[in-house]
Amino acid sequence: MALKKPNSMEECIYFTNRSIGDGFAIAWAYRKECPKCKKGRLGKPIKKNGKIDKKADNYECPLCKYQESNEEVEKGLQLEIEYKCPYCGHEGETTTEYQRKTFEGVPSYVFECGECGKKIGISKRMKKTKKKDKS
Ligand SMILES: [Zn+2]
Ligand SMILES: [Zn+2]
Repeated sequence: MALKKPNSMEECIYFTNRSIGDGFAIAWAYRKECPKCKKGRLGKPIKKNGKIDKKADNYECPLCKYQESNEEVEKGLQLEIEYKCPYCGHEGETTTEYQRKTFEGVPSYVFECGECGKKIGISKRMKKTKKKDKS
């Protein structure tokens, strides 16, 4: 299995690059190809002010304006992951569903190391909490 890394962020609905302990994970999910015109990739609709409407409950093809619900689009997506296992050091590639699960108390995309079978979580990035530094 060889994953194809995205050429640009435009192709992705999600992209992250994390260090996890002594390992790392680079994960991405491609936008779904428009089933209607097969040229565009579905993305969140653009609001009148030109900004992406991240909270919209549907995705839209930028070319033909075909729409699909969030649920419909996201259940068909998969997360592709290139990783180095923080437990055994194995470097590999895998895929998992584009669906966050609670992992160690944090919403995360979870995958298993192909070598040691340990579960590895890519946690949702939390907003930085202000540290109370006295120095
Ligand atoms: Zn289209
Ligand atoms: Zn491992």
